[in-house]
Amino acid sequence: MDPSLRRRSTDLPRPRALVTGAAGFLASHLSERLIADGWDVVGFDSMLTGRMENIAGLLSRPEFTFERHDVTNYLHVTGPLDAVLHFASPASPQDYLEHPIKTMKVGSLGTHNALGLALAKQARFLLASTSEVYGDPLVHPQPESYWGNVNPIGPRGVYDEAKRFAEALTLAYHRAHGLDVRIVRIFNTYGPRLRPADGRVVSNFLVQAMEGKPLTIYGKGQQTRSFCYVDDLVRGILGLLQSDHIGPMNIGNPNEFTILELAQAVLDVTGSSSEIAFEPLPVDDPTQRQPDISLARSVLGWEPEVQLREGLTRTYEWYRKERGQ
Ligand code: UDP
Repeated sequence: MDPSLRRRSTDLPRPRALVTGAAGFLASHLSERLIADGWDVVGFDSMLTGRMENIAGLLSRPEFTFERHDVTNYLHVTGPLDAVLHFASPASPQDYLEHPIKTMKVGSLGTHNALGLALAKQARFLLASTSEVYGDPLVHPQPESYWGNVNPIGPRGVYDEAKRFAEALTLAYHRAHGLDVRIVRIFNTYGPRLRPADGRVVSNFLVQAMEGKPLTIYGKGQQTRSFCYVDDLVRGILGLLQSDHIGPMNIGNPNEFTILELAQAVLDVTGSSSEIAFEPLPVDDPTQRQPDISLARSVLGWEPEVQLREGLTRTYEWYRKERGQ
């Protein structure tokens, strides 16, 4: 643990973090890792898309406290904080298209509240941003210096622009108040706890394969994504948190696949004989996405370790256990 994150003004034996969105897929894994690394964690979640099952193992731990709270409302935490990790937001296209206004509010008002709390506590602030800030990118792969190609008035704009605003607000707090900040741009991530019905491609394909239903490919399946296993992602995020680099920093696995290739990998891993069904491509669906991770490599020495088939196998095992198969 980075000693600079320890508060010297308090007698707390362990550093303490607020994690917003703690009952979500990513932040529940992150909270577990923080506790394993010696932190105390205060978790907040509105439970809009979070699930109590995700934090079932954490709730019995004395290092973890949880409050059901919507961070678009005023945030209060008793006692000191060393870090505020802002992960609250719908993140699956299905979820943010269903909750467009809540998505914009959590990226704007929620980020403002979380920044204000970090400032009051003199805590380091880490924003979970996204590869969606690059929109449908015209530069490939995407380095952090790329400004993106986002349709602000399209349906996905609610997520993309909320996260872009959140990045701008985070840097405004850094410049105006000297707040210690970090921004991570997260690329497609998968693993255990990805909600089976959350609509993202890995969960959809795994569930469809397990149920013998056709795998739904949107468009021709030639669009690409680069899939990062959750453990690799969490390791990268904690590396950034404890580094001196403000970011934004891409964290993702640069191995790029077409959606058709992903479907084949899911069929191989599950041994399913499901067919493929082609469905319409959603509006503004990015045609390609691949992180340039040169920055994370050079600053953090970070590299993803779990490749697609291994990660899919682990995720499949988790889905089987969840469904009692
Ligand atoms: N996709 C698909 N079938 C599905 C779900 C998604 O072909 O059942 C496609 C989607 O159109 C996109 C890619 O898979 O091109 C990744 O979609 P996802 O919702 O996982 O995340 P995104 O990267 O679009 O935010």
